[in-house]
Amino acid sequence: MANILPFRKPRASEKHRGNTLCRSGHHKWEIDKERVFDTKQGRLVTRLRCQRCGKVKTRLL
Ligand SMILES: [Zn+2]
Repeated sequence: MANILPFRKPRASEKHRGNTLCRSGHHKWEIDKERVFDTKQGRLVTRLRCQRCGKVKTRLL
């Protein structure tokens, strides 16, 4: 619990734009960084960021 930081949401104008898709789990992923090293998994992953809500996820190569 100690390490959880409050996530700042994008500006309100962006919040209302296409966000219903994001809430349904249909994010618009784009590659944020080509490859990053995930220390948790100890390997290279591709980082993806949603263009609409700014959510970030990583994907194993
Ligand atoms: Zn999204």
